[in-house]
Amino acid sequence: MLVVRTARELREHLDARLRHEGEGASVGFVPTMGALHDGHLSLVRAARSAHRVVVLSIFVNPLQFDDPQDFAVYTRSESRDLDLARSAGVGIVYAPDAHEIYPEGFATKVSVDTRLTGVLEGAVRGSAHFDGVATVVAKLLISVRPNEAYFGEKDFQQVLVVRRAAWDLGLPTTIVSCPTVREADGLALSSRNVRLSEADRRRAAAIPGALKTVVQAVREGVADAGVLSARASEILERAELDCEYLAFVHPDTLEAVTRVTEPTRCAIAVGLGRVRLIDNELLIPPSHEGSERVE
Ligand code: AMP
Repeated sequence: MLVVRTARELREHLDARLRHEGEGASVGFVPTMGALHDGHLSLVRAARSAHRVVVLSIFVNPLQFDDPQDFAVYTRSESRDLDLARSAGVGIVYAPDAHEIYPEGFATKVSVDTRLTGVLEGAVRGSAHFDGVATVVAKLLISVRPNEAYFGEKDFQQVLVVRRAAWDLGLPTTIVSCPTVREADGLALSSRNVRLSEADRRRAAAIPGALKTVVQAVREGVADAGVLSARASEILERAELDCEYLAFVHPDTLEAVTRVTEPTRCAIAVGLGRVRLIDNELLIPPSHEGSERVE
């Protein structure tokens, strides 16, 4: 496994690797902010199953942090990350520093319409968050030029924003969304989970618990978002979780849904001390059972 620090080195080594692999070799790309866990590694496994060459990037992107404190304490564990990436079969790790991505005088921004970026995470974190995400991902996709790039459904709004930006900019990469990897009690793996106190970690299980209850209620025919919201809120409140939002939205447009008669995303964000956790599930009403969307 090669570790490269600049876009130029990346291009040289990736081109050489592709020449070596010969005709038909394709590239799968997994962008991350490091602090790798099995959620990230599941993206690597998906990329490996479809592509001979897998590139993983590690870059804690300052542009997408609305809270400087969150950026300052974000886990950085490069040597451990490189060991994990190597064992998972990554071919090239691209780990640039901030100056490589944002050179002196950097003045360009990729900004996706607020219909996708001004709601849910964008409403809480501010519009700069998804501008930061879209800008860095566009830049990485231009440097790596992968056939497919892999993202986690846990950040489903991010998937929509990145897919929109890649399409609108004419980037030749397909954005693939992969299922959320969870702990035994259902909590979605996140680099931020390690910052939870033991008590908060236990309470956090109410997030997937609330989502599970909603998924089940919809399956049983409950369609009213108000009723579903009340059931989920009760579970979150019982765990004394401070809910930032609990929303029912169209899975592609993010428009608010009041009756779940079509596949709908239920998205939850909670604050636990200084840690924010997000999660979501796709709700399938009985009339659509058996016709789940494949992304
Ligand atoms: P991050 O390093 O947090 O920016 O995440 C890098 C990628 O891993 C993003 O596409 C995330 O959506 C994805 N990811 C994070 N947590 C999980 C998880 N629990 N399951 C699957 N993918 C995840």
